[in-house]
Amino acid sequence: MTRLSTYDAVVIGAGPAGSSAALTLARRGWAVAIVEKSAFPRRKVCGEYVSASNIGLLDRLGIGDAWRANAGPEIRRIGFFSGETCVEAPMPAAKYGPPANDGFGRALGRDLLDTLLLQAARSEGAEIFQPWRAVAIERDGDMHRVHIQARDDKSADATTTLRAPAIIAAHGSWEPGALPSQVEKTSRPSDLLGFKAHFTSAALAPDLMPLLVFPGGYGGMVSTDHGRLSISCCIRRDMLARLRRSHGSGPEARQEGHGSAADAVFRHLTASCRGVSDALDGACLDGPWLAAGPIRPGIRICYERDIFRVGNAAGESHPIIAEGISMALQSGWLLAEELVRASSGRAGREVAGRRYQAAWRDLFSTRVHAAAVLARMALGPAGPALMAAAVRHFPQALTLGAHMSGKTRPIPGLV
Ligand SMILES: Cc1cc2nc3c(=O)[nH]c(=O)nc-3n(C[C@H](O)[C@H](O)[C@H](O)COP(=O)(O)OP(=O)(O)OC[C@H]3O[C@@H](n4cnc5c(N)ncnc54)[C@H](O)[C@@H]3O)c2cc1C
Repeated sequence: MTRLSTYDAVVIGAGPAGSSAALTLARRGWAVAIVEKSAFPRRKVCGEYVSASNIGLLDRLGIGDAWRANAGPEIRRIGFFSGETCVEAPMPAAKYGPPANDGFGRALGRDLLDTLLLQAARSEGAEIFQPWRAVAIERDGDMHRVHIQARDDKSADATTTLRAPAIIAAHGSWEPGALPSQVEKTSRPSDLLGFKAHFTSAALAPDLMPLLVFPGGYGGMVSTDHGRLSISCCIRRDMLARLRRSHGSGPEARQEGHGSAADAVFRHLTASCRGVSDALDGACLDGPWLAAGPIRPGIRICYERDIFRVGNAAGESHPIIAEGISMALQSGWLLAEELVRASSGRAGREVAGRRYQAAWRDLFSTRVHAAAVLARMALGPAGPALMAAAVRHFPQALTLGAHMSGKTRPIPGLV
């Protein structure tokens, strides 16, 4: 069965970027379709920390109260765990909106956050195609056609075409695909692969979010919702291969539950960061480890071939600064605000595209570059030792780093 439906905008992907854009447009009366390939709720490779600078935006998107009711404790301290080093410093507070409230960031599982955002977009009138995958985009006069395929058993053979003048690519950057907005996939030894797990009964101080730096990678831990701890990290592909070889990946090792990539990462983390082994001693794994990537940090073009990009698709900071959700939520909102201001037609979209790209770069470029510098330091051969020595002597560098990574930066225009 094939059908054709027409909208003002089609949004591909219902992560924080896609839902934020779709919700804002739908609220302003746009006819919006969102295409999401996964059924929700779904867990995702992500540390799940959301900076306080977003709280005003979460309120504006209509999920502020639900976020406050569900998210984990306020994160008032930032830490650094590497080898035997465990250092901490104050997390700077951020102003998050009228009447200039101060606040601290908190973490909420992506199974919950993404579901809340998508439900809010649905309540504003967005039509949701889920689990459906966008497989192709083609031009159709002043419009585009987005071809989508069902992914559930019931309608496995169904295909549908959605037509709209505005196409918003919010599909992230970690998965390959044939869409013109998708990031090309290559494989290099220096690629960073993402891992994440939830634990319960962990012994991390609830208000502390430590950065983890270990040979070949970096990561973080944070207390998230309902007593869960989220641990996530990025590790070089070549380091992971070496760890898997040394930890064994034959049938015997597999029978004992060893030899998987996640097992190798977990052993490496606990062996190379005392703070991690202390926090997880006696903790219970809650759900399977997840893997994703390689990640693709960098700044991309926000509007190209008459397609808008938001979230990771537009640009991605190394997750060492835990700002990807902020950038996703904020970029989706920024683009939607520009689109509703613009006149209709291709000329209007081009103006919106230029304005959106300028706003994106102004707001996010510094944190993308700062994260790249930090990640390069962490991933260098002497990185963990050098960074540990530096923060032992100057713990305030952690507070300064949090400022520089955008954690206290207000969202322009959100007053
Ligand atoms: C290890 C690690 C830890 C991190 N920790 C943090 C943190 O603590 N805080 C933080 O702010 N950020 C963190 N990040 C970054 C953050 O996860 C991302 O920046 C964020 O998820 C980007 O949001 P998005 O909406 O752009 O894309 P995504 O969240 O990736 O969402 C994209 C959506 O599009 C869907 N999709 C993809 N292709 C298609 C298609 N063809 N058709 C239909 N749907 C499609 C996917 O299923 C997905 O739901 C971390 C990242 C990593 C790797």
